[in-house]
Amino acid sequence: MFKEWFIRKSNALTARRRVKVAPEHLLLLLPHCMQWSGCAQNVREDIANCKQCGKCRVGDMKALAAKYGVRCVVVGGGRRAVEEVRRESTHAVVAVACEKELVAGVLATLPKPVLAVNNTRPCGACRDTSVDPDEVEKAIRSLLFFPFL
Ligand code: SF4
Repeated sequence: MFKEWFIRKSNALTARRRVKVAPEHLLLLLPHCMQWSGCAQNVREDIANCKQCGKCRVGDMKALAAKYGVRCVVVGGGRRAVEEVRRESTHAVVAVACEKELVAGVLATLPKPVLAVNNTRPCGACRDTSVDPDEVEKAIRSLLFFPFL
């Protein structure tokens, strides 16, 4: 499949660039479909509104963002995602989404470095999606500058 190939190639190219950024310049971008469909918290306004109840991966992503001090936003659509990646303060991006959204996101982010992480869709497309937190953490760590390591 072209989309999977494109994402693999794009991630490999980003890795080869060996870009390292400070935490405040790394954006973790999440799709709104990751939020549990029964949750009333307005995480799109601010992920701080997530109560980390454990019903979806948004709470895990909030914890990861806090652990590494990176900015994390939950977006409901492509336009907001593009606005976020084009902010001057965003120097690199870890994006979680389905393959179709990731391809569009990678193209919109260029030339900034981006690592794309596929979501999983146990309930079908666009609803109660999930992601492997270890994969996201690995992507975050690979783009962060750690002067103490
Ligand atoms: S982890 Fe956060 S976003 Fe997910 S259901 Fe709980 S409060 Fe809502």
